Amino acid sequence: MTGPILRIAVPSPLHQIFDYLPPPGCDPATLPPGVRVRVPFGRRRVVGFLLEVGADTTFDSAALRPAEAVLDAEPALPAEALALLNWAQRYYHHPPGEVFATALPVLLRQGEPATAPRIPPLWQITPTGHAALADPAALRRAPAQRLLLEHLAQCPEGVEIEALRPVVHASTPTLRALQNKGWVALIAPLLQSEPVAAPVSPMQRLALNVAQTAAIAAVAAELDRFGVFLLEGVTGSGKTEVYLRLIETVLAQGRQALVLTPEIGLTPQLLARFRERLPGPLAVLHSGLSDRERLNAWLLARNGAARVIVGTRSAIFAPLQTPGLLIVDEEHDASFKQQDGFRYHARDLAVVRARQLGIPIVLGSATPALESINNAQTGRYRLLQLPERVGGGSPPLIEILDVRRQPLTEGLSLPLLARMRVHLARDEQVLLFLNRRGFAPVLFCHECGWLSQCRHCDARMTLHLRRQRLICHHCGDDRAIDPACPVCGSVDLRPLGQGTERLETALRREFPTVGIARMDRDSTRRRGSLETLLTEIHNGDCRLLIGTQMLAKGHHFPDVTLVGIVDADQGLYGVDFRSSERMAQLILQVAGRAGRADKPGTVLIQTHHPDHPLLRTLTSQGYPAFAEAALAERREALLPPFAHQALLRAEAVDSKRATAFLHAARALAEPIADGLELLGPAPAPMERRAGRYRAQLLLQAARRQDLHRFLDRWIGQLWAQRPDRAVRWALDVDPMELY
Ligand code: ADP
Ligand code: ZN
Ligand code: ZN
Repeated sequence: MTGPILRIAVPSPLHQIFDYLPPPGCDPATLPPGVRVRVPFGRRRVVGFLLEVGADTTFDSAALRPAEAVLDAEPALPAEALALLNWAQRYYHHPPGEVFATALPVLLRQGEPATAPRIPPLWQITPTGHAALADPAALRRAPAQRLLLEHLAQCPEGVEIEALRPVVHASTPTLRALQNKGWVALIAPLLQSEPVAAPVSPMQRLALNVAQTAAIAAVAAELDRFGVFLLEGVTGSGKTEVYLRLIETVLAQGRQALVLTPEIGLTPQLLARFRERLPGPLAVLHSGLSDRERLNAWLLARNGAARVIVGTRSAIFAPLQTPGLLIVDEEHDASFKQQDGFRYHARDLAVVRARQLGIPIVLGSATPALESINNAQTGRYRLLQLPERVGGGSPPLIEILDVRRQPLTEGLSLPLLARMRVHLARDEQVLLFLNRRGFAPVLFCHECGWLSQCRHCDARMTLHLRRQRLICHHCGDDRAIDPACPVCGSVDLRPLGQGTERLETALRREFPTVGIARMDRDSTRRRGSLETLLTEIHNGDCRLLIGTQMLAKGHHFPDVTLVGIVDADQGLYGVDFRSSERMAQLILQVAGRAGRADKPGTVLIQTHHPDHPLLRTLTSQGYPAFAEAALAERREALLPPFAHQALLRAEAVDSKRATAFLHAARALAEPIADGLELLGPAPAPMERRAGRYRAQLLLQAARRQDLHRFLDRWIGQLWAQRPDRAVRWALDVDPMELY
């Protein structure tokens, strides 16, 4: 008999929940799950989360330590958010402490009080207020009102009442008087200082088209129950408008909406559009926030002050007070999957969360993931289609450019260059897509064939000429560019292959009078540089756009009439079975940036494999036909979504130890692997990375429940075995990359 025990998720890589005695003087019966508890852990003191109060412990009860303090009166995590985390922990078999650490703002994990900031509303001048200011007669006899109005006219983003007191002593009655005339209004404040691209303008009501009306009606009819809606529509077909209308409906019911978008889809344009249209405070959660901003946005979501929460991957864990709708935009996007640590998929968790909450979820994309298309075909998701671009306009024409045996100027074929000239001569914009940043992916010696290998990885170092460095894109190591070949001493070192930097240099030579904008992670590193580039593109200063996948999402470039895909071959025969799906999605995403009704776009794809069947299907029949063919291949090969996978990854400085661990894991698996196929252990496709050798064991099952029944037993056994501490290992359930 040990009495009540606190079961606590403690930040640790161990695959277990820890038991503690209640802190002295605390009545555990009053403790709700989800409160934070400070506990001793080893020689440290850490903040953990109470998962439940139990009656007994499986540990040695004499050795149990008491918790030090309970940090919250109310649960930091509401029951709903706790339920999602518990589900995710069980499904992904990840150590509970790390699951909580990934999901929560860092300040909460450090013990910061979980009290939401106060958000005072802002006063803003209205259009009629501006008109009144322009009329000298209007406020002649109300100097205080005039003073305030003039002040507000200088502050288009609105002012807090506190800041108005120094302007006019009796600011409250003065504001009321102005408000009664309709010259000023209270607006919801921005919850965080995001750049706003467009001035806030009165809401415009567009007349919806037939497909939009049908899609909205389908979801709106089911707002009180769980349902997954796959909203498929090409770029510009009005998906965002559908989201906005549905969110308006949910807000009118007094409920909140959570919108997930890929990191690079979270553009100033998108946020400005949301702010312009939606009443009520909007919280934004993404990786660019400070810890304080993140905590504040999170707390405002939790206490319901934020009505709409827009965020990237980890925003799926944002607690909600009155959830009404979940939306995942660009649902196929790979950035929804976390690729290290706790490897969850935010889209998949969003579906689980909607089910737990009994609310609808909308997954939107021009190019849905094959998994989602399959779910729609089997009836698990409802398919809603927006088949046309708003305002008509034909979809871009896609052509394959066979570059075999063609002379290439820095990767560009003559026909592509000729077409670029035609479009530029017409004062239109041209976009070139190349998914490789830097100058060249490798530096090599023309004498002896030496390659700029990374010392820590089985990979080459990318040449960055502007920064004068060789940089490994896998481990981040960098060094000065070798002046001579380290093997033979020759100075004839040459860059091999193209990156965006090199493309830019070549194009400046080829088109000296045309403004060029390069958009990749290097050129947008500084804060505000992305906005500057976008402005230069939109006002026409730059007519030649070069970019990586950063260009492919979120932006609309209506004056772009020609899109060149510089190198489609990387994706066609990639090591991963998902490469062709990714490439198809990327091609269409890039294509979708271009054109408008009166200026349709053309897309030229350079390839050495013009007869690749999937590429042919994509260009001649479009994405649905491509998806059909790709799904048929997957079905044939018994690959996801027709099989379910988990990947056990291991890495160690010593390659033998990583493999030995996986052999032992396989030996444990074999007797219990009913309905499973075990593949490996095998070296990872890039075996050495950041100085560690990586190997993997793939587990595959035709039925999901077989896989999970197995994992439930196997992972426990693996931990119980006390594996080699020199080996780092992790399980990836539903891996999106097999290396
Ligand atoms: P998507 O999200 O599918 O790319 P958007 O919702 O952004 O499409 O719509 C593309 C453009 O068309 C936007 O400028 C939007 O304001 C406009 N739009 C959307 N729906 C309508 C409509 N029913 N009538 C007129 N314009 C519309
Ligand atoms: Zn050499
Ligand atoms: Zn490296």
